[in-house]
Amino acid sequence: MTLGEERRMTLGEGRRMTLGVIADDFTGATDVASMLVRAGMRTVQVIGVPESGTAIDADAVVIALKTRTVPAADAVRESLAALRWLQAAGMRQCYFKYCSTFDSTPAGNIGPVTEALMEALGADFTVACPAFPENGRTVFRGHLFVADELLSDSGMRHHPLTPMTNANLVRVLQAQSRRRVGLLRFDVVARGEAAVLARIDALRADGIGIAIADAVDNDDLRTLATTCADLPLLTAGSGLALGLPAVYAQRGWLTPDARAAELDPAGGGAAVIAGSCSLATNAQVQRWQQAGRPAFAIDPRALARGEPVAAQALAWAQSLSQPHGAGVPLLVYATSAAEELKAVQTELGAMQAGALVERCLASIAGGLVEHGVRRLVVAGGETSGAVVQVLGVTRLRIGPAICPGVPWTQAEGRPSGSPLHLALKSGNFGGPDFFDEALQMSAQQ
Ligand code: ADP
Repeated sequence: MTLGEERRMTLGEGRRMTLGVIADDFTGATDVASMLVRAGMRTVQVIGVPESGTAIDADAVVIALKTRTVPAADAVRESLAALRWLQAAGMRQCYFKYCSTFDSTPAGNIGPVTEALMEALGADFTVACPAFPENGRTVFRGHLFVADELLSDSGMRHHPLTPMTNANLVRVLQAQSRRRVGLLRFDVVARGEAAVLARIDALRADGIGIAIADAVDNDDLRTLATTCADLPLLTAGSGLALGLPAVYAQRGWLTPDARAAELDPAGGGAAVIAGSCSLATNAQVQRWQQAGRPAFAIDPRALARGEPVAAQALAWAQSLSQPHGAGVPLLVYATSAAEELKAVQTELGAMQAGALVERCLASIAGGLVEHGVRRLVVAGGETSGAVVQVLGVTRLRIGPAICPGVPWTQAEGRPSGSPLHLALKSGNFGGPDFFDEALQMSAQQ
């Protein structure tokens, strides 16, 4: 009996999904899902909106969209489709998850999506709470801080797609919204539940539709979670999720599951695919090589020349062990340092080189899994997207966290084969030993 079957026997069929999350990007979805699992909610992440009628056995379903930087009208359409699916699945509360640095442009998409969801849910009020103090994101008097800097002084001011040049979130969100935006200030939040409820009533009476919520520590997030549990819609980074399971449990909507993070054991081989060139991933690749472990480098120039690089990598993997990859964990990487990356991008074009590398790594991942790899670590957000696409994975059960924001997951709904575990890491996450930590943890599962 699989763990899923065993749980269904113990818990009984027909448990109602409590929370439906709509996330505006993939790794952000995993981040919030990991937070919910940590607090005892059995959580499944789906990639894109599932077909209508798909049954998912979980306390929380997180739908991962890719709507952070698409045109606002597309973000609204896709978010409403996600909402309809979650409503049909019986969710009690909806959570729109965006980045804790409030990544958006004056055209959206946080404001337009929030307002469309409010309208569809018949909500006249919601909060906007990007704060995630554990990760250094705090909101004070409506201003977002990244560690000790205002958002507008942080590296986010140079972001290529969503440069954040104003830390005053009331103004930032107002520029994207038709409804009036107000502030739920820290001194009210610090006074606790009754004060916050009274303030929300006053804001509503003033015609405020969305309130930026100040929060400087986890206690503030817990107060907000308790106070806002009756709102049809919450909008937030992943921090607010921390306090929700306890509130749902108090209301009898949820029986926290101490085994929420358990996955079925995965046998088979282990491999790491690294397609990120971030500083963190460079350090992780270097640490692996220094330890003398097997590693195969992908050369983008060879790909551009049309050489069969993926086949060469798979032949190399096969030469290490039989069947492919079983036994010795191996690394296939395109990761390179900034200078070399720049040279390749100038030569081949950044988009072209990126697409070639993504396609190659994804096809290697597909080959490795076909030949017995069952524990796969992938470094890089876009790279992870390409890998899950080639593997045909559309649902992930969220398991234990390897580091904050990166859990092991188990692919669900695969047509056949033994359990496949995936750790999908956004480039900059994890310390230098992340690959090893992930693999050691998966060997114990
Ligand atoms: P991150 O999470 O660090 O942003 P991503 O996987 O999202 O990582 O993005 C990294 C991009 O860089 C991918 O498109 C990948 O294919 C590309 N890439 C990786 N290595 C190289 C390389 N050596 N030369 C050119 N592009 C590369």
